[in-house]
Formats: sequence, structure tokens, C-alpha cells
Amino acid sequence: MHGRALVVGGGIAGLAAARGLLRAGWEVEVRERRGDPPDIGGALALWRGSMAALDRLGLGDRIRERAERPGRGVLADPSGRALVSVGPRRADACLIPRSSLLAVLLEGLPDGVVRWDTPVTEDEVRDAEGFDAVVGADGIHSIVRRTALPGAVAPRPLGTVAYRGTVPGRTDTAAETWGRGRLFGVTPMDDRTTNWFACLRGELLHGRDGQDRVDLLRDLYGDWHPGVTRVLDALPGTGVDRRELYDLPALASYVQGRHAVIGDAAHAMAPNLGRGACESLVDAAVLSEALGAESTVGGALARYDRRRRGPARRVVRASRVLNRLSTGVRAGGVRNRAIGVLGRLA
Ligand SMILES: Cc1cc2nc3c(=O)[nH]c(=O)nc-3n(C[C@H](O)[C@H](O)[C@H](O)COP(=O)(O)OP(=O)(O)OC[C@H]3O[C@@H](n4cnc5c(N)ncnc54)[C@H](O)[C@@H]3O)c2cc1C
Repeated sequence: MHGRALVVGGGIAGLAAARGLLRAGWEVEVRERRGDPPDIGGALALWRGSMAALDRLGLGDRIRERAERPGRGVLADPSGRALVSVGPRRADACLIPRSSLLAVLLEGLPDGVVRWDTPVTEDEVRDAEGFDAVVGADGIHSIVRRTALPGAVAPRPLGTVAYRGTVPGRTDTAAETWGRGRLFGVTPMDDRTTNWFACLRGELLHGRDGQDRVDLLRDLYGDWHPGVTRVLDALPGTGVDRRELYDLPALASYVQGRHAVIGDAAHAMAPNLGRGACESLVDAAVLSEALGAESTVGGALARYDRRRRGPARRVVRASRVLNRLSTGVRAGGVRNRAIGVLGRLA
């Protein structure tokens, strides 16, 4: 069927859904409350399933042109000893600056499809006059979820905090180092830039309110191996993003009537598996194909819910488990030995 869709939110999920819907023959209006796409910086890992979704949206090759492929993936302990190491063929993800992914998604849309600086209100979500379908791609604090889905839940804190940024210089390796209560990751970003992130338990920050972020990271990671301290040395003068982490308890449904939620609005997750944006892209491809193929909006949304809710719920759970495991405060040695064994078996 064809119809007219209102997409609330112009992030990765919303822009991808708009692209898919246009290809499926729908008329689309995207409304974004900000003046530009939500670029919070850094690089995103795009795994195989999301690259397949981008291919279905007709954008896979444009992404591949701009993406980096890590030469190696390593999980290490703070001394630098590798617990798991994988070569390029098993380091299965592409890495792309978030800004590049958003730019490719936006280039895929005709002018005028996105209306910037136009927040959607709860009344507009409810009424959505003149629209056959309403797609809530409005992120973790979604008003579409809150307004249109009965019994929708609120995000819950994970008890961990993420710091992120970039430093000058290139790396070929995607490396994560796990210590007690904290981890530090370094990945390729582009020819001139290295992406880094740190994730740590909130307890480690007690008594550190107001401490300069670079000093804090030096205190917490300064005695780790040179792959980490090299990044710390390059931090002064670069921006350090900080955010407390949340995920979303499982929803009973992603759809209600002509309303559907996708992306973080449906399944916000801990960032530890690097899958939130990936799952958003898969949602967008599945939803738009269903709306193009089915004869009713109700049938299409039911198909989307059937295909996506179970798989996304499993990724949210796995991300939560990894968030806990990677920032565990006890049994570091046992944890690391188990990871080493699993790495050799994998
Ligand atoms: C530290 C960190 C690292 C991450 N790393 C990775 C990674 O490596 N790989 C990966 O796949 N994912 C990663 N993610 C997850 C990924 O960033 C998110 O899953 C993804 O950005 C979700 O996109 P979205 O479009 O659903 O939501 P958002 O990006 O939040 O976009 C929602 C948009 O809706 C707009 N909006 C909200 N309310 C309204 C309204 N009422 N009216 C109009 N507009 C509205 C907002 O302004 C925003 O632009 C990471 C996340 C974090 C926090």
C-alpha cells in the first residue's frame, strides 16, 4: 500500500525510515525539534546485519566508501595482556564517524522532507491529522512511546557512565581494555583521527563531583598500558563527552493503531555491544518494507512488531549483561580467565 507517514525525529532511525518509506512509494514528512541531525560525535561500529539493512535502503555502498575496517580486534587487561584477539576477517564491523552516517542518510532524502526546528507535541502525536502512519523515531525519551503506546515504560539507569571523544592520529586496531569497575576502548575513526570511549561504574565517581574530565580519566586509567595512556596524553584541548547510561525495559508492543516506535524509542540499550544504531537501521528497513508490501497499515505494523521486537529485546539484554560484566568490580581474574577461554573457543 501507499500512504502518508509522519516520522517524529530526524536521527539515525528517523532518517533511515524516511529513506525506506520514500523508496516504498510513501509520502513522508520528518519533523525534528533540533536545527540539525543529532551528531554527538565519535565513531559507530556497524555490524553485518545493519550493513545489509543499509543495502536494502540503497545506501550500503556509500557507507562502505566512507567507513574504516579495523585491522584487528583486541580485548586486553590493564597491563596490556591480550585476553582475546581476532584478525581482520573476524573483526566483522565497519567503523564510521557518526557525522558521516547521518550525512549519508540525509543525502538520501529530497530537500524539504525533513522539517528542522519543528518539535512534535503530544496532541500532534495523538491527532496526526492527514497521516496514515506515525513513526516514533524520537529517541530514548520518546513522546510517541509515552503518548501512543499503552503501559509504556520509562528508561532505567544502568549505574554506569560513559566518557567519549576523539584524539588526533590514526589507529588500525579496535581495542577494549577491561579493569575493575571500568573499561577503556580505542577504535579507528578515519585517516587522521582515533575514537576512544570509557565506561565505568558510577560508584567510582563518588567524591569527584566537579573534577576536570581529563584529570579524572588520568586518575582512573593513568596506570594502564601504553595503548590507553597514549590517548590520555593527547586529551588536553579535545572535547570529552560524558553521559549517564540508561536502557529501556522490554515493551509489550512496538505498535498501537497507526503508531509505531523504532530505534532508541523502542529499544534503547547499553552501548557496550555497539548495536543501538545498527538495530535502528534494521528497524527502518523492516518497517518501511512492511508498509510498502502489506495491504493495510495495521497488517504492516503487526509484521514489523513480529519481526523486530524479539530480536531487539535479546540485543538489549545482551548489551546490559555486557555492560555489567565489562565494568564488574569483583572477580576480575576469574572473569578475565573465562573470557580468555571463550575467546580461544570462538
Ligand atoms: C556512548 C554511546 C556509544 C554508542 N556507540 C554505538 C555504536 O558503536 N554502534 C551502534 O550501533 N550504536 C551505538 N550507540 C547507540 C546509538 O547512538 C543510538 O542507538 C542511536 O543514535 C539511536 O538513534 P535514534 O534515531 O533512534 O535516536 P536519537 O539519535 O536519539 O534521535 C532521536 C531524534 O528525535 C528528536 N526528537 C525527540 N523528541 C522530538 C519531538 N518531540 N519532536 C521532534 N523531534 C524529536 C531528537 O532531537 C533526536 O534528533 C551508542 C550510544 C552511546 C550513548
